[in-house]
Amino acid sequence: MPLSAETRLKAILDGTGAGTWEYNLDTGDIILNDRWASMLGYSLEELAPISFQTWESLCHPKDLGPANEALASYLNGQGPQFECVFRMMHKDGEWRHIHSRGMLLNNGKNDGTRWLMGTHLDVTEEKTSQHQLEQLAESLPGIIYTFVMEPDGQFHFSYISRKTEDLYGIHSDQAIADPQKMFDVVHPDDLQRVQDSIGLSAESLCEWVCDYRVLVEDRITWVRGVSRPERDTDGRVTWHGVITNINDQKRLELELEHLSITDELTGLFNRRYMLHKLEEAAAENERYGGIFSVISLDIDFFKAINDSWGHPTGDSVLQTIAKLIQQRTRKSDIVARTGGEEFIVLMPNTALADARHVADALRMALAAEDFVSDEGERFTVTLSAGVVSWSDDTASVRDLLSVCDRSLYEAKRAGRNRVAVRGGTNPN
Ligand code: GH3
Ligand code: MG
Ligand code: MG
Repeated sequence: MPLSAETRLKAILDGTGAGTWEYNLDTGDIILNDRWASMLGYSLEELAPISFQTWESLCHPKDLGPANEALASYLNGQGPQFECVFRMMHKDGEWRHIHSRGMLLNNGKNDGTRWLMGTHLDVTEEKTSQHQLEQLAESLPGIIYTFVMEPDGQFHFSYISRKTEDLYGIHSDQAIADPQKMFDVVHPDDLQRVQDSIGLSAESLCEWVCDYRVLVEDRITWVRGVSRPERDTDGRVTWHGVITNINDQKRLELELEHLSITDELTGLFNRRYMLHKLEEAAAENERYGGIFSVISLDIDFFKAINDSWGHPTGDSVLQTIAKLIQQRTRKSDIVARTGGEEFIVLMPNTALADARHVADALRMALAAEDFVSDEGERFTVTLSAGVVSWSDDTASVRDLLSVCDRSLYEAKRAGRNRVAVRGGTNPN
């Protein structure tokens, strides 16, 4: 025998643990079920006589207004049902969050009165978890989020914490309503990389880790996103993750990188960086052809300068020479202090004759420079240089440098203050 509609409805309501209410909009009559009362720790008898005031007296005073507004807007035809969450006082003195839904019903009695019927569900636990999540999200030093990508590439955030405001300058509600906004502020130079890495993570289901810049009102912030993807049976991929500010870390990284390639005294590049750039230039020449030249400079009798005028004066001579080389070379040239009083200039796309010309100009500029010691005595400084170009028969960077060193040695042997090119020297 089929169950009656009434029995089925009761079973459904019992199953969901919902309380029910019926409210006659014309007479103000109210009918509540046992569950409605027990949800707040009462029996219906304890609450008798039941009236609209029964609800009003138990509802949080601050929630009365919004609940009445929600009801009014439903009755005005806005929305398919009345829906609202308000707090109600339990008999134990604690506030409970009640999710109330209702609809206008025809009571079947055809007496012309309008009945609203609805349910009450206790959502205190969900509210508490949501509150805990918000508190947790608030205390984290980054954004936490759940990002969903549909098989057709559409995406949205099903959750994103309020820290979006600090890092992205976007309110979390805005990010949820228009997820593209979160990509619009990614630095243009990093956007493709960010999108590619998300695509790769979706395909491989490997953890997404990406460092990128966010650009908000001309302010750049380095952030790191880390999140774990999972794919459901519909092919939808969901990432749960965190985005943190790594500005300090990045600054330190860049500083360390700068320190590791810079000569402290002159601010020029150091030997390590020069060797790296030479290897790069050699590899590029091997692959694409082209030409580059190298000048190796060594100050003449520098030991005597130190001995005569003191080490600090020697240091300032090194600094002056560094500036001089920088002024007389191109931006694309790389200048390094590769030893105590030795410098190398790497000149991309430069033929031997041109490099030799630059070396000679440097030699003359230094010889013309007036130096003054701490004691006020004037002196001059000269340099010797070897010049070499990468050619088809150069086997390695090591080879190139040893040819250059041999030229430099010849320049020294021939009397210093001169430039030598593979066996030949040009006297001053
Ligand atoms: P040559 O003409 O043959 O090159 O002679 P030189 O005296 O320049 O060459 P040598 O290699 O004999 O001496 C190099 C000197 O450079 C010895 C060292 O004390 C000095 N030196 C190395 N590094 C520094 C530095 O950072 N500051 C100063 N002031 N002197 C340095
Ligand atoms: Mg030397
Ligand atoms: Mg020297």
